Amino acid sequence: MQQPEYREGPGRRASAALAAIRRARSLPVRAAWLVAVTVLLAAFALLNLRHVLAGAAFTPYAAGNLAALLAVGLLLVQFALSSRIRALDRAFALNRLLSLHAKVGPVAGVLALLHPVLIFMPAAPTGADIMQLWREGLGALALVIAGTVVATSLWRTFLELSFEAWRLIHQLVFIMVALIAVHSLVLGSDIWEGWPRAFWWGIIAVFAGLTAYEKVYKPTALRRALYTVDAVTKASRDTWNLDLRALNGTALEHVPGQFAFLTLLPDQGGKALRHLPARLWRAARLALYGKAGRAEEHPFTISSAGDDPGVISFTIKESGDYTSTIGNVRPGTRALVDGPYGQFSHLVLAGGDILMIAGGVGITPMLSMLRHVAARGGPAVTLVWGNKTEEDIILRDEIDGLAASPSGLKVHHVLSEQDDWPGERGFVTEELLGRILSREELQRRVFLCGPPVMMEKVTKDLRRLGVPRSRIHTERFALE
Ligand SMILES: Cc1cc2nc3c(=O)[nH]c(=O)nc-3n(C[C@H](O)[C@H](O)[C@H](O)COP(=O)(O)OP(=O)(O)OC[C@H]3O[C@@H](n4cnc5c(N)ncnc54)[C@H](O)[C@@H]3O)c2cc1C
Repeated sequence: MQQPEYREGPGRRASAALAAIRRARSLPVRAAWLVAVTVLLAAFALLNLRHVLAGAAFTPYAAGNLAALLAVGLLLVQFALSSRIRALDRAFALNRLLSLHAKVGPVAGVLALLHPVLIFMPAAPTGADIMQLWREGLGALALVIAGTVVATSLWRTFLELSFEAWRLIHQLVFIMVALIAVHSLVLGSDIWEGWPRAFWWGIIAVFAGLTAYEKVYKPTALRRALYTVDAVTKASRDTWNLDLRALNGTALEHVPGQFAFLTLLPDQGGKALRHLPARLWRAARLALYGKAGRAEEHPFTISSAGDDPGVISFTIKESGDYTSTIGNVRPGTRALVDGPYGQFSHLVLAGGDILMIAGGVGITPMLSMLRHVAARGGPAVTLVWGNKTEEDIILRDEIDGLAASPSGLKVHHVLSEQDDWPGERGFVTEELLGRILSREELQRRVFLCGPPVMMEKVTKDLRRLGVPRSRIHTERFALE
């Protein structure tokens, strides 16, 4: 069903962002990235295989060096995948790049481990040699760091590591790269001749460039585009809406459904106050209401539709140690916003009417899309939204208001922990979806976001109801 005023357009603010994503997602651009990575890894392999191609034997020693070169090649790819490079995000979406990053890490780790194993296989160093092996020692230290980073990533939950501790350990990779650079400088004699020499310096320069981009350029650029918290309002029992105003008047341009990394700067909250009583009053309020969270960076969906050029909003549920402080944020708090990222948007994944399925706070990307459709017109949307109780329904008045308007939005609330709810009760299941949705609704493109268990189960339910995998678009609220 299409609305009379149907026009699935981005709106002026989102159009440039959308056009850039569409260009970057085109087949030639994506293929060019993949070719570039393949050529890069082939060049790393050639650094070693050129000897074999020239007639030398492929010994375990050569295999060990090949493993190290491929590990460094993959390490470079790892840096690029996690550096939030805008062009890569537009082509592939940051969430997917980071999940690839998580898969490539162990492969690079195994290759790095094979390096000493193969090299020392023919003749392990004796005790007398050990003191002479300081150059190898640098490599060994790099290997220990690689092992630690891979192990803490694979078994973070088992090790009960907090996200912050895990991220701190991950920062060791910068030391690891420096160790590898010195190790290769003092030991890799065959790469310091002819074209390999230029190539190797180029690689070291790219590592340095990516580090400078992430550690110097990005933070500086973000601080130049500061935001200030305009309003903090309650959106449900445990969810808060934060409106942020760009101090330079122009907030980032995003397409509905994208996310950004938000850092609230608690110590710089509010304007600088000249008079002592005002400063004391602020200190008293801080003591009374508590501080906003630590200056940590967290990813949140931009829940506003992007209509107001100076303002963006986040809708944040109290779910952990950081987010549980979100209600304490005071208007005037300064903030950094790094984004937008991602492609979970009806404008990017375009094509006809929509079925949205959300669990709890998984509504936020849908909220942005719904607000956009309401403001601009767009496809018909049916929303199936699971919550525990009525009190957990975020911005219920606004969403039910949209459903009551001629926007074409149909909402099914499904509550799992409220026995007196007159509507659908329980969880979103195959039976429920088959019963409340029409055949036409089940043929639409699906946008699904919610707790991981729910998403996994609902995806299977949808598949059983005949929805092709290619029509089910998902957004996980985890970047691992
Ligand atoms: C793309 C995306 C969009 C999101 N949108 C929203 C939203 O609109 N509203 C909302 O309420 N939540 C959203 N989240 C989830 C939100 O980021 C987490 O709930 C929040 O970071 C948890 O932090 P915590 O310290 O309170 O909880 P914790 O209990 O410490 O962390 C819970 C989990 O959140 C993740 N996490 C924690 N800290 C970070 C961090 N600094 N950076 C990245 N991940 C972290 C980890 O997977 C961790 O296991 C989104 C997440 C992603 C990835």
